[in-house]
Amino acid sequence: MSDFSRRKFIKKSILLSLGATYIISCEDNDMLDSTNSTDPDGEAGNNENNRVIIIGAGISGLVAGYDLSIAGYEVKILEARNRIGGRVLTIRSPFSNNHYVEGGAARIKPDHDLTIAYANHFNLILDPFYATSGGYINFTNGNRTVIDNNTYLNTSYGSALRKDYLKIRGGSDQLTNAFASSNELSNKIFLNSPVTSITQNDENVTVDTGSSQFQADRVLCTVPLPVLNKINFSPSLSAGKQTAMNGGFRYAPATRIYLQFKNRFWENESLNGWGNTDHPEEIWQPSWDMSGDTGVLMSYLRWSAAEEMDILNDSQRNNAVLSRWENIFEGSSNNFDKGISKSWSTDEWSKGAWASPTTSQNENLNESISQAEGRIHFAGEHSSNDRGWMQGALFSGLRAASEIKNKN
Ligand SMILES: Cc1cc2nc3c(=O)[nH]c(=O)nc-3n(C[C@H](O)[C@H](O)[C@H](O)COP(=O)(O)OP(=O)(O)OC[C@H]3O[C@@H](n4cnc5c(N)ncnc54)[C@H](O)[C@@H]3O)c2cc1C
Repeated sequence: MSDFSRRKFIKKSILLSLGATYIISCEDNDMLDSTNSTDPDGEAGNNENNRVIIIGAGISGLVAGYDLSIAGYEVKILEARNRIGGRVLTIRSPFSNNHYVEGGAARIKPDHDLTIAYANHFNLILDPFYATSGGYINFTNGNRTVIDNNTYLNTSYGSALRKDYLKIRGGSDQLTNAFASSNELSNKIFLNSPVTSITQNDENVTVDTGSSQFQADRVLCTVPLPVLNKINFSPSLSAGKQTAMNGGFRYAPATRIYLQFKNRFWENESLNGWGNTDHPEEIWQPSWDMSGDTGVLMSYLRWSAAEEMDILNDSQRNNAVLSRWENIFEGSSNNFDKGISKSWSTDEWSKGAWASPTTSQNENLNESISQAEGRIHFAGEHSSNDRGWMQGALFSGLRAASEIKNKN
């Protein structure tokens, strides 16, 4: 089966298992003809080789655990942090009026069928991502222009129109929380459990966290490549994975600075608090559809603009953004209340925002980073065709779960 057919096949069986409601609107129209919803990958059934340890409770590990658990596998998920979700991180403190912002995943592309199907599966509500009223600012070469709402929403971000992007009401972590609190996964996730070594032989795999040891028949590793070298593998991983995990597979830096203002002073000018600058930067107002006097604006910086922020402390970051924004939203400094930031390059469990390999890194290493090695399988956004999106992470988790089912 070609890569493309296999991809379609996995997606088809998963979407079928999630129910037919979404299928009619997704790209794979041939699904409509299918009446066979039998899991084509087989089930663990009474097979004794069914113990799977998943490293990482990000969305790729969670979807794999959910899928394998439904198929009858005995799943345990080991997570280094004191929370689930990984790069899906909704931040609620210290904002007033129950406002929240996204540290990582925020917008959902209209063709991200797996993300939308799982949101529907867990009865989550999807809202428009971009502000549906008010003007958007464009600040280029020192010139500030206001783009009217309709015009802005009908321009593209990536391959889709802005008006078609969605978000999860209540925060993106509603999705990861739904996986984690499901009957399939609750009590199966172990937080504060950073894996330090993985040893495999012909019979099984041993996973060590320093304080506990676990044995499994299969391991699924969803650890981001820049922090994969914190785990000692025995025998060693292939040369391709070693190159990738030792700096040979580029990750994008991204840093977000969130500033709460005492009031939404930009509304005096009929603006919605959103915009683009040639810093370059995206400005979002995460609170645009939330009630309350206060408002939160976010500066979204990538690459060198993010790295410039990463060497500053929180208050220096706030001041740097505020002074730049005086030309964009006049009155920023006077109306400022408090601010926080999130840098992914300095996050100890990701060391980067998402995989963004150079063309040659991709050509040389793409295949090997997702390849299973003995009893160890690999997933995570970096091992997908939709890098930098929940969609890619979900697909990779399902692809790896399917590999594991096919081994039994
Ligand atoms: C700034 C930013 C913006 C984004 N915007 C969007 C967006 O708008 N829309 C969208 O769909 N996606 C977006 N994404 C991408 C999306 O968040 C990711 O693709 C997805 O969350 C990655 O999931 P994952 O499971 O592959 O990795 P992760 O979420 O990183 O999960 C891996 C887990 O492994 C854990 N771990 C690491 N090492 C160990 C160890 N040794 N032992 C145990 N556990 C370990 C980590 O703590 C982590 O929880 C964004 C990401 C970022 C950072």
